[in-house]
Amino acid sequence: MSKQTVIVVIGGGAAGIFGAVRCKSANCAAKVILLEKTNQLLTKVKISGGGRCNVTHACFDPKKLAQNYPRGSKELLSPFHRFQPKDTITWFEERGVPLKKEDDGRMFPTTDSSATVTQCLLNAASSAGVEIRTVQHIQAVERVGPSFLITLHDDRLYARSLLLATGSAPWGHKIAQMFGHNIIPPVPSLFTFNVPSSSLLDLAGISVPKAVVTLENTPFRVQGPLLLTHWGFSGPSVLKLSALAARTLHECNYQATVVINWIEGENREGFYNNLLERKKRRPEETFPPLLPHNLQTRLLTAVRIDPKTPFGSLSHADLGKVASKLTSDRYIIEGKTTYKHEFVTAGGVDLREIDFKRMESRITPNLFFAGEILDIDGVTGGFNFQNAWTTAWIAGEAAATPAS
Ligand SMILES: Cc1cc2nc3c(=O)[nH]c(=O)nc-3n(C[C@H](O)[C@H](O)[C@H](O)COP(=O)(O)OP(=O)(O)OC[C@H]3O[C@@H](n4cnc5c(N)ncnc54)[C@H](O)[C@@H]3O)c2cc1C
Repeated sequence: MSKQTVIVVIGGGAAGIFGAVRCKSANCAAKVILLEKTNQLLTKVKISGGGRCNVTHACFDPKKLAQNYPRGSKELLSPFHRFQPKDTITWFEERGVPLKKEDDGRMFPTTDSSATVTQCLLNAASSAGVEIRTVQHIQAVERVGPSFLITLHDDRLYARSLLLATGSAPWGHKIAQMFGHNIIPPVPSLFTFNVPSSSLLDLAGISVPKAVVTLENTPFRVQGPLLLTHWGFSGPSVLKLSALAARTLHECNYQATVVINWIEGENREGFYNNLLERKKRRPEETFPPLLPHNLQTRLLTAVRIDPKTPFGSLSHADLGKVASKLTSDRYIIEGKTTYKHEFVTAGGVDLREIDFKRMESRITPNLFFAGEILDIDGVTGGFNFQNAWTTAWIAGEAAATPAS
């Protein structure tokens, strides 16, 4: 009688559970054992998206989808042709969890509750026959011939394939290093900017739909909604900028200058000429509403312009000051604040060492990776879970079927 194939998955988060289910569906004869350190499964899924779980994003073109990953965009392109948000939607829908799309493309369960998603994943694991063991203290992971020996406090497991899905936990990085992998040092991504010297703190809650936010002296520039907060700036544009510049901002200890263009599609020169034109043609008019009222008043008074002054009474120098203020307004970032709805770690297993056709190590055969353990992170909006689903789908299938 042939011995049963054993596949061990380490980590009971989104990637681990999804990967384990895929393992079983790709090879139902295999024994799939999932080991979780804590007594809780899917902890991050539970708290994700403010308790609603932003499962994925309604972006169905692999090329466009991949652009939402500051790290991993090139490598994820081919995996997204195999498992993308459409497949995620179908997977959950087939298991009784329809997803709905919000105006900005984020997708949530129609129940608006992450519990629906966790329950669905746990049911899928249970009906597939995944053996889940929680509160597991793994003492050692070793290579024994082509297999792995996993030593637990009360057991020893021999596995033909090992799938590491331990998220950003240093332990997983250590195991990957032990098997020859390089770890790109982890740094936080997706955070908001602290700007204690900002004169706009009392305007918290105001949102500008299309600001352009640039990190001074860097190529990092994002256009999108900007939110004023009690501590500085947030909103999709700032979160995206924090992701793009995650490493740069870490290196300067989150002390930097952000330049805000409050006026959509205008550079300083164009906007200045526009103001001069108005002065010439409609000298009796005052500033039209370009921004939320309180914010516009605050920005104009900051350059000592009374918003009620007609254009005809403003000098060229006045108009120059207004143009500079509204198109290149500078603020000093002094630290960061975690965005509670979603945060991730940039850094992890070096992507050059992974075969993305199988999510398998190029260094240690039969060792697979999925989710945040990799040096992949997305911007906010459901992209980070999509990375977990896609990489786990491929890793799970490959772990269950040896390379020919
Ligand atoms: C507050 C918050 C909200 C978020 N909201 C969203 C959202 O709405 N949408 C989105 O796309 N992304 C969101 N994210 C990001 C998303 O949660 C992660 O990208 C995703 O959970 C990564 O999944 P993972 O399985 O790779 O890692 P994890 O979810 O971190 O799972 C890793 C698992 O491995 C276990 N583990 C670690 N070490 C060991 C060990 N030695 N032995 C055994 N097990 C071990 C851990 O306990 C954990 O259960 C959010 C993140 C946070 C923190």
